[in-house]
Amino acid sequence: MSAQHHFIRADGSIVDVAITDRADGDFHIDAPPEALADRRRAVLGPNPWTVVRQVHGAAVASADRVSCDPAEAPEADALVASGVGVPIAVQGADCAPIAFITNHGPIAVAHAGWRGLAAGVVSAVTDDLHARGATVERAVVGPVIGPECYEFGREDLDHVASLLGDDVRSITATGDPALDMRAAITSSFAAVGVDDVQFLGACTACGDSGFSHRARQEPQRHALVAQIRPAPNEVSL
Ligand SMILES: [Zn+2]
Repeated sequence: MSAQHHFIRADGSIVDVAITDRADGDFHIDAPPEALADRRRAVLGPNPWTVVRQVHGAAVASADRVSCDPAEAPEADALVASGVGVPIAVQGADCAPIAFITNHGPIAVAHAGWRGLAAGVVSAVTDDLHARGATVERAVVGPVIGPECYEFGREDLDHVASLLGDDVRSITATGDPALDMRAAITSSFAAVGVDDVQFLGACTACGDSGFSHRARQEPQRHALVAQIRPAPNEVSL
């Protein structure tokens, strides 16, 4: 079942982050709506989720201006929410789902594969949050494909290394060139001054928690969803 994490911020508010696994089912935004709504409710309660139609880019959408109707989901790979009790979610199957935990105010989530990281999705999100007065203190990363399972073309690897540093170079379990997505994510956050990056999921390809497009051609997606909750003494029952 989904892993639930709770981060208490300096102002007392709480950021909930839930990461689903295979047992929670398919969270692809085009999954049958009623079954999808049931799965979402089981993870984080009744509030409707806001999602984006992910395109491996760096565009950031605002949940304050986006409909909850997936048919109207904008093409973007990140979502910012400033409202309390507004779940924002991204989906993955090898690419990384990331939650941006801020000191106060708005939070964000992003879907980041190597193309999104190369396009600067991490700095796009931190810039957006900064413009809204919030500072990212911690990143929480769900299941992502590990280097042992992620054979990568030499030219593409050179390109990513030129942007994010040589730490992204790795080798697969069979000795072929590989991209280390965790290193690429760590480097992307270091570039914007965020050193606290927590990896909470196993490899999508050889672990048993997430879906993998690359290893098993699975069409399903797991989800990372985040929301702000008020400080407990502000909760009215
Ligand atoms: Zn693996």
